[in-house]
Amino acid sequence: MNILVCIKQVPASSNVRVDPVTGVLIRDGADVKMNPYDLFALEMALQLRDCFGGKVDVLTMGPPQAKDVLLEAMYMGADDGMLLTDRRFAGADVVATSYTLSQGATAMGDYDLILCGKQTTDGDTAQVGAEMAEFLGIDHATNVIRIERVTDAGLDVIVNFEQEVYNQTMEFPCLLTVEKDANVPRLPSYKKKKQVDPARVRICTLDDFADQDATHYGLSGSPTSVEKIFPPEKNDDRMKLSGTAAECADQLVALLADRRLI
Ligand SMILES: Cc1cc2nc3c(=O)[nH]c(=O)nc-3n(C[C@H](O)[C@H](O)[C@H](O)COP(=O)(O)OP(=O)(O)OC[C@H]3O[C@@H](n4cnc5c(N)ncnc54)[C@H](O)[C@@H]3O)c2cc1C
Repeated sequence: MNILVCIKQVPASSNVRVDPVTGVLIRDGADVKMNPYDLFALEMALQLRDCFGGKVDVLTMGPPQAKDVLLEAMYMGADDGMLLTDRRFAGADVVATSYTLSQGATAMGDYDLILCGKQTTDGDTAQVGAEMAEFLGIDHATNVIRIERVTDAGLDVIVNFEQEVYNQTMEFPCLLTVEKDANVPRLPSYKKKKQVDPARVRICTLDDFADQDATHYGLSGSPTSVEKIFPPEKNDDRMKLSGTAAECADQLVALLADRRLI
C-alpha cells in the first residue's frame, strides 16, 4: 500500500506575532514543530505499511525551513519527502493550499491512500483534507479514529463526530483525516537520523506541477482574503466581593441580574 501523509509545520507556541500591516503570521524566528494531529496520521500510515508493505511518503507546503518537519517524519520512519516551496505559493488561503497540495501529491506519485491530520493548531480550519480530496477527485472521510479492516479494494474506518460514531467503507484511492489520540505516535529514532539521506526530500516549485498557471496558487489563487487578524484583547476587568460567603453570593446574584445575565 502506497501512502502519502500531509504534514504542516506550525508555531510551537501560542505566543505568535502577527504583522500589523499585512495581517500575516510572522513565522521567521518563531519556534516551530510538527502539527500535533499530523503525528497521528503519520503513525497510522507507518502501522499500515508495517502490516501490509508498501511505502509512506510525506508532503508539506511551506518556506524552505519546513524541510525539517519532513526530515523529522523520516526519522520516525517515513520513506521519502517532498517540500513544496515557491514564492508564488505565498499567501495561499485554504482553497489555494489544498490545490497546491493536490498538485504536489500528483507530482509525487500514485497513492492508494492519503492521510492528513484532522486539523492544524494554527489555521485550525479542518478543511484542507476534504478540499484536497475534491481536487484529486477521490473519496474522503474525516475525523477517523480507527481503521477496522483493510482489503485489496479499500478500507473500513471508524469516524467520530462526537455526537455520532459510525463505520464508513472507502475504496482506494481515498483520503482520510485522522483524529487526535487515534494511536500513540512513535518517537523519532536516533539510528534513523544517522541513516536518513536529506537528499530524499525532493524540493518542488510551480515549475514541477502539471498546472503551471500561477493565478491558481498563492494569493492570486485565493478566493478569500483576511480583513484583519489580531490577538484577543486581554480583559483585566475585575471586581472583588467581600463579606461572608452568603453575602458574596447575594452580591454576585445582584450583579448578574443587573447585567441581565440571569
Ligand atoms: C487569505 C488568506 C491568506 C493566507 N495567507 C497565508 C500566508 O501568507 N502564510 C501562511 O502561512 N498562511 C496563510 N494563510 C493560512 C493558510 O491558508 C492555512 O494555513 C492553510 O490553508 C492550511 O489551513 P489550516 O491550517 O486551517 O489546515 P487544516 O485544514 O486545519 O489542516 C488539516 C490537515 O491538512 C494538512 N495540511 C494543512 N496545511 C498543510 C501544509 N501547508 N502542508 C502540508 N499539509 C497541510 C495537514 O495534514 C493538516 O493536519 C492564509 C489564509 C487566508 C484565508
